[in-house]
Amino acid sequence: EAKRAGRAQHVIFDDKMHTQVHRRMQLENELRDAIGTDQLSLHYQPIVSLVTGEITAVEALLRWQHPKFGSISPAEFIPIAQESDMILRLGEWVLSTGCQQCADWQKTLGSVAPRQININLARKQFEDPNLPNDISSVLRKTGLPAEFLQLEVTEESFALNVNEAARTMRSIRELGVTLAIDDFGSGTASFAALNQFPVDVLKVDRSLIDNIEDSTGEAALLHGLVVMVRNLGIKLVAEGVETFEQLKALQELGCESMQGYYFARPMPVENLEHFLKTNMGLQACTTGAMAFAN
Ligand code: C2E
Ligand code: MG
Ligand code: MG
Ligand code: MG
Repeated sequence: EAKRAGRAQHVIFDDKMHTQVHRRMQLENELRDAIGTDQLSLHYQPIVSLVTGEITAVEALLRWQHPKFGSISPAEFIPIAQESDMILRLGEWVLSTGCQQCADWQKTLGSVAPRQININLARKQFEDPNLPNDISSVLRKTGLPAEFLQLEVTEESFALNVNEAARTMRSIRELGVTLAIDDFGSGTASFAALNQFPVDVLKVDRSLIDNIEDSTGEAALLHGLVVMVRNLGIKLVAEGVETFEQLKALQELGCESMQGYYFARPMPVENLEHFLKTNMGLQACTTGAMAFAN
């Protein structure tokens, strides 16, 4: 009896694995063809200053609307693209589309145009020796001033070869483009790496923000980080802020900026443009207690 149950489980497991492998292969093939079609788009999520309440930047986040499966998360398809060189084509598309969009906003949105666009780089893109040249040619083609572009890299991108990574970062910054470390604190948070790398911003991972208002370990950690990066000239952006209590705690700790559902979700371009034209800043979304007392 037990044996039969065991075998049945085995069959179900194999079936599920088969489905997963099949979906993966299918997505890999179809993603290749989706690049350059309207199945792919960028959504934009505002980053807002905790000091002035103003929107200082927007992050471009890739979306895939699959004809059969519907919307597929980048958390699923980016790793698939990473396994082949497809990520390079995909990354190039994101970079040029995002930069073009930001350049267009300067013409169409006037004073509410975002002055910075944040674009995520995958590890393979970061390791590509052509990257600095590609960035500079995208800036030239789109006319976007270099200081309007910030690139986000995760720790996995420079874990392997610290010297090489630092060199790549320097050549990117020589273009006038700024750099952020994304998901900081989610992995083997390399505090030691901070003064080896010429970075402008640390984006503090959501996992560190989640319990911040309970004044436990996370708050102490973040306080230490705030003090430390101040001396290095690095700014902090808190990711995944979902409540007023978190916002308040971050403000008290001296964190410069935040990004999260509490202020705004990632939006398609039309919605973002409407949001930028009508938004009253952070002040308007803070209920009751004043986040900006003076
Ligand atoms: P990320 O770069 O850390 O982007 C932030 C993610 O957190 C986004 O997920 C965003 O929708 C989500 N988020 C923002 N605020 C909140 C919040 O308050 N609560 C919660 N629970 N989540 C929040 P998304 O768009 O699903 O993207 C996931 C990841 O996929 C990104 O994480 C990034 O690593 C990767 N990704 C997205 N677009 C690109 C791209 O164009 N290129 C590359 N290489 N990676 C990308
Ligand atoms: Mg990011
Ligand atoms: Mg992140
Ligand atoms: Mg992430």
